[in-house]
Amino acid sequence: MQKELSIDIKFDQCHIWHPYTSTITPLPCYPVTEARGVYITLEDGTQLIDGMSSWWSAIHGYNHPHLTAAAKNQLDKMAHVMFGGITHQPAVELCKKLVSITPPGLDTVFLADSGSVAVEVALKMALQYWHAKGESRAKFLTLRHGYHGDTFAAMSVTDPDNSMHSLYKGFVPEHIFANAPQCGFWEEWNEDDINDLADKLAQYHQQIAAIILEPIVQGAGGMRLYHPTYLRRVRELCDYYGVLLIADEIATGFGRTGKLFACEHANISPDIMCVGKALTGGYMTLSATITHKQVADTVCSGDAGCFMHGPTFMGNPLACAVATANLEILEQNQWQQKVTSIEKQLATELPLIATLEKVKQVRWLGAIGVIELHQPVDMASIQQAFVNAGVWIRPFGRLIYIMPPYIITPTQLSCLTQAIYKILNT
Ligand SMILES: *Cc1c(COP(=O)(O)O)cnc(C)c1O
Repeated sequence: MQKELSIDIKFDQCHIWHPYTSTITPLPCYPVTEARGVYITLEDGTQLIDGMSSWWSAIHGYNHPHLTAAAKNQLDKMAHVMFGGITHQPAVELCKKLVSITPPGLDTVFLADSGSVAVEVALKMALQYWHAKGESRAKFLTLRHGYHGDTFAAMSVTDPDNSMHSLYKGFVPEHIFANAPQCGFWEEWNEDDINDLADKLAQYHQQIAAIILEPIVQGAGGMRLYHPTYLRRVRELCDYYGVLLIADEIATGFGRTGKLFACEHANISPDIMCVGKALTGGYMTLSATITHKQVADTVCSGDAGCFMHGPTFMGNPLACAVATANLEILEQNQWQQKVTSIEKQLATELPLIATLEKVKQVRWLGAIGVIELHQPVDMASIQQAFVNAGVWIRPFGRLIYIMPPYIITPTQLSCLTQAIYKILNT
């Protein structure tokens, strides 16, 4: 007997926008009914090994008992209460943990709704900081190939080509872009790599409120893994010129690169740090912008007398409770060993893929594996091929990349790399 499909795919195609999709030529979406551990289950019962962690977020796998229990437990008390004039245990407990695990000096937390909003908040903090100091600094310095989100300010510091600045010209503020670092994470450091950023800083530092960058891993803008010394030099230059440093750890935070935060690869502490994505282990949207008390106090010493931001769902108790549970798992489950063994396995298995004709380069760091091709993939056909192979991998452009949940087993990880090999070898 044919099982009746209940998800109305036709309605979806005609009426629902998915990320970066056309309503004229929508690509088919795969109907998912369940996700558990490292498996995503399609409506027809097909089980896929997840290679994406739902865009960096589901680090402990789906439907984790500890996270689900935390959500249910909090739901019985209150799903939400306003954060203006009210505080609650889930927020206090989460912020205590965040202050204790983030790089030294970051001790003042602003809870926001999504990664992009955390970036907006960081940029606003930097602007208010200089305003309070009586200096007019309205420019940000950032890197080509960066990605910081899809809202307008976040987009303005995202790679101008990738985020189509030309489409919104006249509306998106124009900031200063330095060449992206060329030295790979595992390569020998070349001091020339920092020249362009150093030159731009020397020239424009009096107008620059902050440098914003993704530490070590440039994610959606190209999956580029750069040298820790680059980041160390940026910190030194920021100190020298008195410019704030904003580290966008939204993709890299919570262990993904082999350190709890990617800044630790360079042993630096930013002035402002954004986290999101894996913060709730992939359960719900929540982000945080964390800064030093001295920066926060300066912000609040200005004309406004406070930081001018306050989203409706700020500090959502349900999200905070799940985030706290997520950090508890990180504390207890030896994520570092898991990520290190994933890294070792990628180092063994990706070089074989690099021998294929279609492949330009492979690279890896922590629980991130990247295969860069010479030509862009055909999304519809490659997506189907991956599903047929029993894996969920979603490439973009010339990049096939995996960032599986840390709980993935060696056998499951091999299924991912073998599927990529097989499909690229046709
Ligand atoms: C995903 C991402 C963002 C945006 O986060 P959203 O939750 O999608 O708004 C910002 N910065 C980086 C580095 C990201 O990877």
